[in-house]
Amino acid sequence: KVLLEVKDLEAKVAETGNTILRGVNLTIREGETHAIMGTNGSGKSTLSKCLVGHPDYEITGGSVTYKGEDLLEMEPEERARAGIFMSFQSPVEIPGVSNSDFLRLAANARRKQRGEPELEPLEFYGFVMPKLAALKMNPDFLNRDVNANFSGGEKKRNEILQLSVLEADVAVLDEIDSGLDIDALRDVADAVNGLKRPDSATLMVTHYKRLLNYVVPEAVHIMEAGRIIYSGGLEVADILEKDGYEGIKTLIKKEA
Ligand code: ADP
Ligand code: MG
Ligand code: MG
Repeated sequence: KVLLEVKDLEAKVAETGNTILRGVNLTIREGETHAIMGTNGSGKSTLSKCLVGHPDYEITGGSVTYKGEDLLEMEPEERARAGIFMSFQSPVEIPGVSNSDFLRLAANARRKQRGEPELEPLEFYGFVMPKLAALKMNPDFLNRDVNANFSGGEKKRNEILQLSVLEADVAVLDEIDSGLDIDALRDVADAVNGLKRPDSATLMVTHYKRLLNYVVPEAVHIMEAGRIIYSGGLEVADILEKDGYEGIKTLIKKEA
């Protein structure tokens, strides 16, 4: 069953009018994990942000259908309530708001949408503790302000904690592997795998094959200059690692 269908998506930076996405096509089905790789500036983060409705970008063409509905007609908050979440490369700090309050409010907004009862603080504690443990995070973490003085690794773990609390239907993960040592990478990857459900999907942006050894994608897409220029299986990441983007270009020429 198709969960997310992106067709000929075009987008520009709202402020400057610069066109970034030049016709992106991508179909993600329930239960699938997709990876997007590509050179810096090819539009990977822009695509991710357009899916969650980031205000920096204006959609100028194409369509996005999510669970059969027109995603582009939905406000960013509606998209979140409907289950699309993105981890941000630089998450914001929210002084004065504790992580536990932030996560509980977010979880309850989502539960409300699904007609489930809200969690009281104590119930939330019971709900979130196993998730913290899975990410090898210290429980003290819940009492700290959102993202304040978090180390790089803690920020990444926190992003995944947010996704697991929100029970995302489509998790968009933009470079969650950046700046992680191998142990932290494995913890984060295990947590991402733990989030997967038969009816959810994961879209990961990464530069590195090593993440894909842990979170194994059904499809790997190569993005260049605002388009997906090549798609295949995990072997695409192998070619990229071995021969760089030239290797992909050679492959495209050979198949043409
Ligand atoms: P990637 O994630 O693939 O490295 P991005 O999607 O971040 O690429 O950026 C693609 C191009 O669009 C880059 O040239 C970048 O400078 C530009 N761009 C993206 N977002 C903005 C923005 N908010 N304002 C100005 N330029 C932007
Ligand atoms: Mg980049
Ligand atoms: Mg990026």
